Amino acid sequence: MFDYLIVGAGLYGATCARELTDMGKSVLVIDKRKHIGGNVYTEKIEGINVHKYGAHIFHTNNKTVWDYVNKFATFNRFTNSPVANYKGEIYSLPFNMYTFNKMWGVVTPEEAAAKIEEQRKEASFTEPSNLEEQAISLVGKDIYEKLIKGYTQKQWGRPCDQLPAFIIKRLPVRLSYDNNYFNALYQGIPVGGYTKMVENMLKGIEVKLDCDYFSNRNELDSIAKKVIYTGPIDEFYDYCFGNLEYRSVRFENETLDIPNFQGNAAVNYTDPDTPWTRIIEHKWFEFGKDENGQELPKTVISREYSSEWKLGDEPYYPVNDEKNNELYKKYKEKAEQESKVISGGRLGEYKYYDMDQVIGEALEKAKLLLAE
Ligand code: UDP
Repeated sequence: MFDYLIVGAGLYGATCARELTDMGKSVLVIDKRKHIGGNVYTEKIEGINVHKYGAHIFHTNNKTVWDYVNKFATFNRFTNSPVANYKGEIYSLPFNMYTFNKMWGVVTPEEAAAKIEEQRKEASFTEPSNLEEQAISLVGKDIYEKLIKGYTQKQWGRPCDQLPAFIIKRLPVRLSYDNNYFNALYQGIPVGGYTKMVENMLKGIEVKLDCDYFSNRNELDSIAKKVIYTGPIDEFYDYCFGNLEYRSVRFENETLDIPNFQGNAAVNYTDPDTPWTRIIEHKWFEFGKDENGQELPKTVISREYSSEWKLGDEPYYPVNDEKNNELYKKYKEKAEQESKVISGGRLGEYKYYDMDQVIGEALEKAKLLLAE
């Protein structure tokens, strides 16, 4: 009999497992996949740590979380600076003076601010109520049209005026020449890959892979006093109120016999016609070199195609619009009545969490559980 069965070996599950184990609880972690790490899993191909379920750049303002992950990995000094490709025109991201100069020819921050203000005034709304209005209000119509509209519609499969404004507020807008995509005090990629980091988190803890909770539910439930479930919350309740909407992603990976495909880790294709949203060239997360500082002769790229989730697909992004948040509330109410089961993480809480938020939430939850 275990104190805890943890369903899912991603960051939420691994953090809970570590904390509970360190405080003397017995824990079994299971995952339906054949590997640990959930969607932060990396796999070495041609000497390159490939982010198999999409690019993950660790960034946080939370010192506790930063200190915590540094117990399990050394982080490099990678700073995320994606590039936008709009029909062959290249723009800097996040939106900053380089972007404004290329878009409008403006040179000073004052000129850039005036241009944004002029375009904001031309819009008919006063308070932005959706992503489209929020974007225009932040950066004006031209940038919205070329760098946001097409990308967002491909990414979310919904028109921008039907998406929540908060999605675009993730991105900074800067009147400076700072290409850092994140406003975070701490940022980097674990040296040797995320898999190694999660392996370190799970050291000494029993992990059973290739083990699907739902095909063995009763038996698995019976071997633990409590269950921490990190999968989709609607699946846990057999979609009894209907399914929550997610976006799924398909990755087309290619190994190329050239050292440099695009010169950057991430290039976003912001036009509506290119079928992929972005191309990741994984070696640039580690400066194009292996752990011994040797240049790598080949490169691995991943094209990302976004699609609406359907039964059997992997869910990646919760669609946190009003309709889905309302539906989630029903599942949450049900989950709150559980005495044996705790749900958490991006899928368990149906929230567009970043990695640091997931770890922060898991640390809090473990603390609460240990205080019980
Ligand atoms: N976004 C955009 N153009 C870009 C990059 C991002 O319009 O070139 C918008 C898009 O709606 C996206 C959101 O900003 O979903 C958040 O972007 P982020 O890079 O944080 O997304 P993630 O890396 O989580 O997929």
